[in-house]
Parts: sequence; C-alpha cells; structure tokens
Amino acid sequence: MRLLTFLVPEETPAGPATVQCTGVVIGDDVIDLTDPAVGLPAEMDSLLGMGEEALERAADAATSSARRFRLDEVQLLAPVPVPPKVLAIGMNYRAHAAEMGRELPEHQYWFNKQRTSVIGPTEDIVVPAVSEQVDYEGELGIVIGRRAKSVPAERWLDVVAGFTVLNDVSVRDWQRHSPTFTMGKSFNTHCPMGPWIVTPDEVGDPTALSLRTTVNGEIRQDATTADLIFRPAEMIEYLTTVFPLEPGDVLSTGTPAGVGAAFRPPRWLRPGDTVRIEIERVGVLENHVVAEVPVAPPPEPVVDDRR
Ligand code: MN
Repeated sequence: MRLLTFLVPEETPAGPATVQCTGVVIGDDVIDLTDPAVGLPAEMDSLLGMGEEALERAADAATSSARRFRLDEVQLLAPVPVPPKVLAIGMNYRAHAAEMGRELPEHQYWFNKQRTSVIGPTEDIVVPAVSEQVDYEGELGIVIGRRAKSVPAERWLDVVAGFTVLNDVSVRDWQRHSPTFTMGKSFNTHCPMGPWIVTPDEVGDPTALSLRTTVNGEIRQDATTADLIFRPAEMIEYLTTVFPLEPGDVLSTGTPAGVGAAFRPPRWLRPGDTVRIEIERVGVLENHVVAEVPVAPPPEPVVDDRR
C-alpha cells in the first residue's frame, strides 16, 4: 500500500481554497481517506498513530465510495508534512565514509534535521544566499508507525509504517561549523521527502534495494542499500535505547558514495538543477533547485517562515 498526503482545490463559503487530505494510491488514482466514507485524519502522523485499524480502513477504501482523484491532478505534499522528529545517520555507507575521508564509525552517528526543513516532491530546494555549497544526499527514509521505547532489534519492523525517499540536502560549509551537523542540515526546504510511504509488505528487505541519484540526468550515486553499515533493525534498537520513536517520525538511513562534495572540484547544486532520487520498490523523488529570493528585512519577526 502506498500512503500519501496531498492538496486539492475546494470551494468554501469564503471562496476558493486548498484542503489537505491523506490518501491511498490505487493504480493511477488516489483515494481520499478523509472522505466521510472512510473517515481517517488529514494528518499522516495521526493516521499512523491509529495503528492497524487505520491501515485496514485505508486498504478497504479501494472498494468504498470515497472520492478519488487522478494522481496527476493533485498536489503531493511530503507524506508526513510535519514529522514529530527527523533524524538522519551520517557515514553509514563504507564508500561514502571513504570519499569524505572519514574512519568507519564505531557508533551510530545521528543528527537531527529540523522538521521545518521538510518539503514535498513538487516543491523547490532553495540555495540560501549565505552559501554556495549545497549538496544532495539520496537516502532511504523509514517512517515510524508506532510509539515505542526500548525496541529489540529483532522487533524493529513492529514500529515501522513504511519507507520513503529522502534527500538529506546539506550545506557543507555550515555543516562544518559544529560537530553536530545540525546547522548545515536544517536550512528551509532541505529535507525533500516522498512521494509516498510504501508499506513494508511491498518493499520486502530494505537492505536489498538499488538507489540511484541523478542531477540533470547525470548519474551521481548508483548504489545498493546492501552496503549499509548499520541496518534499520540496529538503528531502531539504538535510538529507542535513549528516547521513544513516535508515529510520523522519519529516520534517514545515510547516503552512499557520489555526493557533490566528493568531486574535485566539488559539484554543488545550482539554481536550475533537477535532482532525482530513485529507490527500487519505493519510488522517485524529484525536486528542482532555485535561488533564494532576497527580501527586505522584515519589520517584525517573521511569521510566514517557509522561505
Ligand atoms: Mn545524510
């Protein structure tokens, strides 16, 4: 099953508006899970938090009278537009650690991406005015489906809702400002995610998937998740030793070799570029790159803070 979050235009008493829905993909169609015939929430983290019951209702929606749209006539958002947490692991492919001149990690090296950096598959990656060193990192994302602490490795799949494609966009000079990576990993728009969540039954072994990243059609990363150093089972055991994972949390599992920083000279993303990440049995995530549009300093603290 493929679950997603999307916007549709809707007439309201106040005039035209867009409304957010959750959906399930059936062929070329998406079925609206917020339709009263199904009655699921418009927020994916709430839907996932309902557990098996929600997934059964989503699966049954295919044969319900719920409204459906053509997939190409809705605007996809990130499958979880505002995840409770976004955590990413660094140096988790041997060849990537080597190209970055780093030792193989003894422990799992986790950092967080601020959840405000999440965008969907139709939104643009913005090159911020403060840096030119913007890089792509194609990664397999894990979406958590159940609140859990202290999960043994062998029970990792119990807490997983599914998999998605994630671009861990990184601003390399800001990344090096501090050992935690957080600043260089959290610029607005620097966590593209999507196009949907694919449930584990359709993905099979997540450590046997091909992953390919292209920039303007040129192959930059061509790898398999079989080369992961730490695997999803170990990740979930390690993280939940310390804190609970919750429905809608996103874990990004690391990037293989071929990032722009590893080229001599480096090949940074530039306005006008298109980054495409394809992961076998999960999907394709494609985003365009644009320049930050300079704005006059705001007279008051910024409230509309998406750019
Ligand atoms: Mn990464």
